[in-house]
Amino acid sequence: MRHDSILSTIGHTPLISLDRICGDRIPAKVYGKVESFNPGQSAKDRAALYMIEQAEKKGLIKPGATLIEATSGNTGFSIAMIAAVKGYKCILTLSDKAGPEKRALMTALGAKIVLCPKDAAPEHPDSYYSRAEELAATIPNSFYLRQNWNLDNSGAHYASTGPEILEDTDGKVTHYVCCAGTGGTLSGTARYLKEKKPDVTIVGVDAYGSVLKKYWQTGIFDTNEIFSWKVEGLGKTIIPDNVAFDLIDEFIKVGDRAAALRVRELATREGMLLGYSSGAALEAVFAIRKQLTKDDVVVVLFPDHGSRYLGKVFNDDWMKEQGYLTPTGEPATYSVKH
Ligand code: PMP
Repeated sequence: MRHDSILSTIGHTPLISLDRICGDRIPAKVYGKVESFNPGQSAKDRAALYMIEQAEKKGLIKPGATLIEATSGNTGFSIAMIAAVKGYKCILTLSDKAGPEKRALMTALGAKIVLCPKDAAPEHPDSYYSRAEELAATIPNSFYLRQNWNLDNSGAHYASTGPEILEDTDGKVTHYVCCAGTGGTLSGTARYLKEKKPDVTIVGVDAYGSVLKKYWQTGIFDTNEIFSWKVEGLGKTIIPDNVAFDLIDEFIKVGDRAAALRVRELATREGMLLGYSSGAALEAVFAIRKQLTKDDVVVVLFPDHGSRYLGKVFNDDWMKEQGYLTPTGEPATYSVKH
């Protein structure tokens, strides 16, 4: 297949049967929507491209512009890739929770990185949100994408991820399971699927330490919920406009240990090297298994590739340090919430 640039290879990711990991343990048919097949190896390629191209159409991005974003890493990589192709400059403010692999990927594509402390509250001047605001206010001809609030983020998934899932399941999808960070991947896809198939069940996945599920349950932004967690990209300590809470039928919190063990199992049982939050998403399928039947068709979205986590979940020493593996390398079985 011939392409004008790398950008037209974004999307049309495969739906892959998870029979080897789910087969005898989950009553339904389960497919993974494997977003690591995007050229930037994550679902964020879709959101970044759509946000940038919509902004171009609205005249918000001019030639030679500087694109700015606050990111957990994947959006940054996608923006850096698109900026390289389109001739824009790119500055990314990044929480120091993102590992060195992710940072190197972005600088390799020509982006500049401003590293910010992961535990700074969003309103603190050192937080990656505040630093991005400051840069956008001081750099002329800049455009701050604001993935949490820019509804073209979820629009990307309404336009592409949703239709792909409906088509690739021949309209049979009954459950869509997806991590919530900015909410774009979850909400845009869910909006499309619910419009076409109102009885589809939307299952959001959240982290312990994040405020999203509590807000969905109570409408209260409860800062008492907040503590630090390890799964990158999953959960939030703010309420993004892109989370369409009304579309979510069930919200499952997944802990760091369960997500880590599950993503390692995906690698060894399915041969799929995927990111940490993919383990959280699959763990949520296991959490709802009692409500599934053999006629259900579950699509679980895997946001990114595992090469970005070789120093973490795929590193036995890191796993032991966290207590997720025993000193002899067995999965730790003690029950913890996170
Ligand atoms: N997992 C990973 C690894 C991510 O980078 C992101 C995006 N921040 C998500 C999950 C959540 O996706 P979204 O922002 O669309 O909710």
